[in-house]
Amino acid sequence: MGSGLLRGGFKLKGFGAEISAPGLRKNACVAQALQSPDAPESLSFFSAGCELSRVGCRFVIGTRLVRQGVSSVARSAWGGGFVGRTSLDDGGGGEVEEEEEEAEWTVQDSDALYRLHGWGAPYFAINVAGHLCVRPSGGTEGRDEVDMMAVIDSLTAQQLQLPVILRFPDILHHRMRELQGCFSSAIAKFGYQRHFEGVFPIKCNPECHLLDQFVEFGFGLEVGSKPELLIALSKLSSRDGALLICNGYKDSVYVENVVLATRLGIRAVIVLEQIEELEEVVACSQRLGIRPIIGVRAKLSTKHNGHWGETSGDKAKFGLTVTQIVSVVYRLRQEGMLDCLKLLHFHIGSQISSILVIKEAMREASHTYCELARMGAPMGYIDVGGGLGIDYDGSKGHSSASVNYNMQNYANDVVAALMDACLLKGVAEPVIVSESGRALASHSSVLVFDVLHAPHHTKNPASAFLDNVSEAEDLHLDSFRNDYASNPQSQDAGEYLLSTFYQVCATLELGNIQEAFNDAKQLRQEASSLFRLGCLSLEQRAQADVLYEKVCQQVLGFGSRLPKEFKLSFPTLYTCNLSVFRSAPDSWAISQIFPVMPLHRLNEKPTVQAILADLTCDSDGKIDRFIGPSGEMSRALALHSLQEAKPYHLGLFLGGVYQEMLGSAHNLFGGVNIVYLRALGDGDFAIDFVLPGQTAGEVLGGTHHSHADLLKELVTQSSSSVAAGKLSQKEASLLIANYQRCLDSYTYFSMPSDFLYHKSNSESTLVHTTA
Ligand SMILES: *Cc1c(COP(=O)(O)O)cnc(C)c1O
Repeated sequence: MGSGLLRGGFKLKGFGAEISAPGLRKNACVAQALQSPDAPESLSFFSAGCELSRVGCRFVIGTRLVRQGVSSVARSAWGGGFVGRTSLDDGGGGEVEEEEEEAEWTVQDSDALYRLHGWGAPYFAINVAGHLCVRPSGGTEGRDEVDMMAVIDSLTAQQLQLPVILRFPDILHHRMRELQGCFSSAIAKFGYQRHFEGVFPIKCNPECHLLDQFVEFGFGLEVGSKPELLIALSKLSSRDGALLICNGYKDSVYVENVVLATRLGIRAVIVLEQIEELEEVVACSQRLGIRPIIGVRAKLSTKHNGHWGETSGDKAKFGLTVTQIVSVVYRLRQEGMLDCLKLLHFHIGSQISSILVIKEAMREASHTYCELARMGAPMGYIDVGGGLGIDYDGSKGHSSASVNYNMQNYANDVVAALMDACLLKGVAEPVIVSESGRALASHSSVLVFDVLHAPHHTKNPASAFLDNVSEAEDLHLDSFRNDYASNPQSQDAGEYLLSTFYQVCATLELGNIQEAFNDAKQLRQEASSLFRLGCLSLEQRAQADVLYEKVCQQVLGFGSRLPKEFKLSFPTLYTCNLSVFRSAPDSWAISQIFPVMPLHRLNEKPTVQAILADLTCDSDGKIDRFIGPSGEMSRALALHSLQEAKPYHLGLFLGGVYQEMLGSAHNLFGGVNIVYLRALGDGDFAIDFVLPGQTAGEVLGGTHHSHADLLKELVTQSSSSVAAGKLSQKEASLLIANYQRCLDSYTYFSMPSDFLYHKSNSESTLVHTTA
């Protein structure tokens, strides 16, 4: 099957119905039609399957069908003992197979295990090839589906190295349309008199091309610092009437630029966050003779309990207290500038997980707004800040990483609170501005990286050594024990420990698994104690370690037959080609959970419980908090065992905001490659552009090591070593060439240059070429 997709028909033995897949689209992948006049979605299709399963056959069907509006029928069919199967090897003329003992692992199982539907819908799904795919325009039929593995193949073919951030601007567009749509329907539903406008907070992700997406779509920008203001002034200057919300600490240059920007046609609102800023604004406006657009940021007393709760409440770092707000009104009135006060802003923190907090904050803010209008300010805008959260773990509100509301609930509550207050106080309704960042940009970026190493992947050279010893020792086991029974004192402690360990290993079976595993843990600990006391040789201690590893392997070998109550207390460490500090800093800094899952082999049961270690030499450089299968936080992630010479790709999702900028160069790992992708339909995609990650030289420059100076020093030193006969000319050239190449290359682990990705049968395999 060239493309790895199901094509052609296949017969179901013993039933006579033919399921064929005529004229399948390039990326469509299911048995779609029944030979009968019935539509493929028909019940008879599924009851046929049920019948077959009753006579002990397995009915082979792709997932896509299940997704195409027949899920309930399909579910009843699954429930009827019918096995979903999505592997593609049946394509040529698959036959109904004999029922096996254990139901085969399906992509639905993977979907449930990683809670993909919970956090990923409608943008991420699994195709029948068991690959993760992206649906950038959020359509459920997947007409725009892009197979992530196809993307990775294409990037590797172009020599682009992992880790890489894949960015889908279409997801951003979908999110913006969704937010606007939710506000439009709330506005229509309540008969609200004004409209909604979105501004994107630059701090969420200031990357140039990403901001362009927002500006081109018609969103405004929110800035919180002078450099951010520089970006916004330039990007918005060509957009007549664009909205610019200016927060943050403001010195006189900042204020002056914002005031001048109004002359460019930008609706630049200077939001007073500190009372001291008021005099600066008044003075600047008088100096330039320009009337500014002024806003005030309110410090609400509504508090939110999440991580960013400190942004809210009386002790918050930002905003004006009610006394200060009232004094701003008096002072502006005194200066004859009250007509400049047009906006009330608040932001009580990011990722608000409870809708109740939003309702309460909205009530407080709405009344503050109305009071300002009643005191004579023209007003006209309310800016409800950010805080709109997303469901990181797909638990729909059952954890702090989640939210108990959706975008529509949010919009409804914002509009409803404003309606209520405005009606009550007889004030005209304001334009609603929101500064959502997280909710708009998180989904659009996926970090793709690969696993470099896992302990049991490559055969431990020590295991071979153990295998030899093991046989020899086995022979002596009985004599050991006899000797020991007759004279314990004469027995070498190390030998005794090892013989007991061998015994545990040899007699391990499903029935005594917990006991044997506990023994192994204890024996390993005792081995290290004995070593500390000088009673065990280094070789003996190594043997104990290898035996322990062997027990673990045996245990893992039982796979799904392991008793439910059996808990492996150690996850396997998978070393990954990334830096947590660079690419997922919140996972380290604030224990944020990001969805992580494999991008392929999702039709295979994962058998390893893993935690992810990164490349940095820092014990914090790991990811060990994941979404558990039933929504709880889990300390390990179910992954597949690595296959010899084949890459294993993982994706980290929902990291489109904050991570890229908070990420730091710990251990001097640099910014990663970013690729902008667009779906073209029918499985095709376009790489719009690639933003190369940092080279080592660039990262070093950030710590004031000059590329040229470093190289010069090395060249000088090698020359004198060559002159002194310590280094050959050839070695010196190699050293300099390598050094230079490293300075110019990516900071992450690179596969040896003679390893190339080789595409065969839609499976990427790593092949060694000797050319
Ligand atoms: C950070 C920030 C935002 C963005 O908040 P999200 O929760 O990411 O939407 C909006 N407004 C202000 C003032 C901010 O500081």
